[in-house]
Amino acid sequence: MRRFSANYIFPVSNPPIKNGIIEVDDEGKIVSIINPGRSFKEIHSTEFHNGIIIPGFVNAHCHLELSHLLGKIPEKKGIANFIKAVTEERFKFQDSTQKPIANAIKELELTGTVAVGDICNTADTLDLKVKSELHFHNFIEVFGINQNNSDKVFELANTIKARFLENYPGSTSITPHSTYSLSKNLWNRVSTEINDSKMPVSIHFAESLPEYEFLKTGSGPIFDRYKFLNIPFETPSGLSPLDVVFNNVDSNNDVLLIHNTFASIDELLQIKGHYRKVTFVTCPESNIYIENSLPVLAEMHKAGLRIAIGTDSLASASTLSMLHHIILLLDNFKEISFVDILKWATLNGAEALNIESRFGTLEVGKNPGLNLITDFDFNSMKPTLKSRVKRLV
Ligand SMILES: [Zn+2]
Repeated sequence: MRRFSANYIFPVSNPPIKNGIIEVDDEGKIVSIINPGRSFKEIHSTEFHNGIIIPGFVNAHCHLELSHLLGKIPEKKGIANFIKAVTEERFKFQDSTQKPIANAIKELELTGTVAVGDICNTADTLDLKVKSELHFHNFIEVFGINQNNSDKVFELANTIKARFLENYPGSTSITPHSTYSLSKNLWNRVSTEINDSKMPVSIHFAESLPEYEFLKTGSGPIFDRYKFLNIPFETPSGLSPLDVVFNNVDSNNDVLLIHNTFASIDELLQIKGHYRKVTFVTCPESNIYIENSLPVLAEMHKAGLRIAIGTDSLASASTLSMLHHIILLLDNFKEISFVDILKWATLNGAEALNIESRFGTLEVGKNPGLNLITDFDFNSMKPTLKSRVKRLV
């Protein structure tokens, strides 16, 4: 049994507790949370820390297998150029992918992340994930606009899925890449699979204006990119990203929509009304890196949408530290409080991945990991640029 205390404990499920004390057993399970009230008394053998104690972070969107692309992709060139660069560079450096993945997992562990929704186009990350204590939901992602290739793409995805299932039977699922990168045939295969599976579905959504342009008019930078590849594909017309999702993903799915950078609040509210459960995942550094834009998060928050945070991959983020992303959001959305953004980084991500019975809040019976945030500003109740995360449990 260990006891921890700090200036404040942020359970996320309840308001912050001044000088709260938290007891965990040898497995890290929370046994009790004590609110000392005004009569603060030091309880025997309590480790007191300066700062705040929060639950472990849940990173709702990452691509660990792209970790070797750190600093290799030019910034602010738009989505079509980003996809082109990632497609070309990811194989150039393929031989050396293991060490960057290992380093990225280490970084996640050291910066207090306990669970990750990770996109997999390959099984490159599998062996290293198994060695880590982090929880992973492995989204086996499919894409391909070549109408004649859908069987091959789907078969390959199923082979990768089978490998992950051996170690992650409850947290591996097939998922579509985006609204603009699957042929009709491939959508049919994926829809049948996801609509039967009861597993969360993760889709890159409204990440760029060219996505809207391609779906609506069959033109623009994404069309040009596909044309250049010289493969047979059907040009869409009269569609929006929302139409594509509604047409292919049944309303009884648990959906994670990633980015939402160019979606209007009306579109997002329609989506919320349509699905059993939907989480809007924001990857702020990646959005700035690729499109130099951010979603309407203040409006989304005000409208009561469930928002979670992803780091995206190191191809478009400088770090996988969730605290870094929290500070970036606080800086860009001054009207949103740290308590709210902390919930995005913990409970909301856990709910999106259906792991909230273990992760996301400090509650008795959960095993969510305990993070200490140092150099916290108690006047504004926000972390500062000097703040660091230390994993306590
Ligand atoms: Zn992504």
